Amino acid sequence: MDVSHIINDLNDAQRQAVTLGDAHCLVLAGAGSGKTRVLVHRVAWLIQVEHVSPMSVLAVTFTNKAANEMRGRVEQLLQIPASGLWIGTFHGICHRILRLHAAEVGLNPDFQILDSDDQYRLIRRTIREMQLDEGEFPPRVVQGFINARKDDGARPDHIEASGNPLTLQMIEIYRNYQAACERSGLVDFAELMLRVVELLRDHPSRLANYQDRFAHVMIDEFQDTNTLQYALIRLLAGGRRTRLFVVGDDDQSIYGWRGARVENVQHFVGDFKPEVLRLEQNYRSTQTILEAANHVIGHNDDRMGKNLWTDGEQGEPVRVFAAYNEDEETEFIVSRVQDWLESGRKPSGVGILYRSNAQSRLFEQALLRADIPYRVYGGLRFFERAEVRDSLAYLRLVHNPLDDAAFERIVNVPARGIGERTVAGLRESARAQDQALWEATVRQLDSGALAGRARNALAVFVALIRELREYAEQSSLGAMVSRIVQRTELIQHYLAREPADRAEARQENLDELVRAAENFDQSMEDEQASLTPTASFLTQAALEAGEHQGEKWQDCVQLMTLHSAKGLEFPLVFMAGMEEGLFPHRKSVEEPGRLSEERRLAYVGMTRAMELLYLSYAESRRLHGQTLFGRPSRFVGELPPALVEDIRPQLNVSQARAPQGSGGSLPGLGSRVAHAKFGVGTVLAVEGQGDNARIQINFDDAGPKWLVAGYASLQPAC
Ligand code: ATP
Ligand code: MG
Repeated sequence: MDVSHIINDLNDAQRQAVTLGDAHCLVLAGAGSGKTRVLVHRVAWLIQVEHVSPMSVLAVTFTNKAANEMRGRVEQLLQIPASGLWIGTFHGICHRILRLHAAEVGLNPDFQILDSDDQYRLIRRTIREMQLDEGEFPPRVVQGFINARKDDGARPDHIEASGNPLTLQMIEIYRNYQAACERSGLVDFAELMLRVVELLRDHPSRLANYQDRFAHVMIDEFQDTNTLQYALIRLLAGGRRTRLFVVGDDDQSIYGWRGARVENVQHFVGDFKPEVLRLEQNYRSTQTILEAANHVIGHNDDRMGKNLWTDGEQGEPVRVFAAYNEDEETEFIVSRVQDWLESGRKPSGVGILYRSNAQSRLFEQALLRADIPYRVYGGLRFFERAEVRDSLAYLRLVHNPLDDAAFERIVNVPARGIGERTVAGLRESARAQDQALWEATVRQLDSGALAGRARNALAVFVALIRELREYAEQSSLGAMVSRIVQRTELIQHYLAREPADRAEARQENLDELVRAAENFDQSMEDEQASLTPTASFLTQAALEAGEHQGEKWQDCVQLMTLHSAKGLEFPLVFMAGMEEGLFPHRKSVEEPGRLSEERRLAYVGMTRAMELLYLSYAESRRLHGQTLFGRPSRFVGELPPALVEDIRPQLNVSQARAPQGSGGSLPGLGSRVAHAKFGVGTVLAVEGQGDNARIQINFDDAGPKWLVAGYASLQPAC
């Protein structure tokens, strides 16, 4: 049998790993050295050469995207579908096992998964039912407590309270919450893992089945496994037959803040005495990029240590751009992307990476203006995020009390005791009188038709909207949005419901929204059309939320956080916002452990780059409502100067910032135009001029739509 395609494109060390005999194996190697490739080839080798049944292989990756890619690559090597092969994330695989054995672990066979929002709500309800004070036991703190205990494998009976009454109480909440889950057939994320570990631990015959079945357990990105995941691996590998094949890189452990334990690498060596193989040749990056990344990570002193080299080209220097402010940073990056595209390279070869989700907005807007397709990974686009939409819904209702959709969205967000039944009553009454919900509410309040709690709650809501409306009459758009964020207490709402890091990301997004409103430049045309700045701003936000992200099939520039870039590679990489406080994140600066995790994140980011790497920072940046004059990130200072080229903005060159796209001339009324997404249609109306003009088009298939000329890229059609 010809197996050359499985082992030909491998170096000696890789080949040794792929063809390893009967032993546990740890491949510990740096970024881009072919760990994932080795894992994929090993699966193919086992099946095709060693005739291992696909059913006896279990491969675990970190994301569903990675799992799909891995399956595709294995099948490509095998040239047949690998049916029976289990590839997935830890959660996905545990879910699958639980579905098979629900009854054995006392679960309802139709159990449903509880996502973290619903989990929060159930915990809050439990606290209320126990008549405890939510101030003393904030639901999100309790949620963190329960999940962390579960991740460590602890049930209420296992937790030591050491006589601490607060801990005792938390344990009681955990107990009652768990009982509620069981009554309703609900399983939260941590429970998926914990149940499977318990199943295998407490049912020796089950465990034996799985140990017999999975002769080969392979794990990618092992450095980011948590306690429970490691316990599962140990259980499975407890049989005589099972062999573990684990690949990872201690320098890329970046999820410590979420319970991952890089010590698992050492534990694994102690527990299983694996063959430890090193891969030292990097195939991804130029010499310059690799050397620069090695140099930066060399500043961490808690490393296992490794060599990494490449015989690739020297390549271009790492470019560091010092922007005057974040707008200039954005403009610079987008213009470099344009150069890249003009030289005939693909959009998907570009990765724009940042530390915090809120940074995506400026890139999204600039890419839109430049008509470059993009996709944001691992998060929603800015104007689609829940907190941003909530705030905009307030702005809409203040601006236009007849906006029923806005009314519905926020009447009880944050929760103010207006239940679904009350809202249904309002809908009914509005329909009967042919009024908007707002009008019906005011009418009912005035006429005294409402009773008790609902009445009070609605009165508070109406007073808030009126107050905001009054404020709007004498203030700028920026001040108005800031006021909304503050008065609605949306952040407190999220803080109380969610883990701190998520609520913090929402806070950053709301700050970014305030900034967007403050800096919003109304076009001349909108002014002439007597549109208020608020109306223009809302139009822009709605357009950007709806239509411009690249289609699935489209080749797009990739935007994502550094965390979600793990395992990926791009010929051209930008790392934006390289400023102290932003990256490394301000919270990590005082803690040495967290600072080295941030440095590993920098290493992950830099090693995504194959050909060209840009790092940029802004000398001043608006963040959290204030202008910060930041110092460049220490990671920039840690680059070896000989490999760096500093780029300063050219003085006296000011680039036109107007949207580009329609090229100035607008289609005439009645003319036929074509749009990339909606197809061909007839122009019904044109308002305004230039790129900011709004054009109403009746599309043959998609029906009538308003588009902004500068964004729509319309082509003449017949
Ligand atoms: P990371 O640590 O970032 O996850 P990795 O160690 O998993 O990286 P891979 O993604 O497997 O590395 O490989 C990096 C790149 O190098 C890929 O494009 C891969 O196809 C290529 N590569 C790996 N080994 C070889 C080889 N022997 N010959 C040619 N290309 C290779
Ligand atoms: Mg990899």
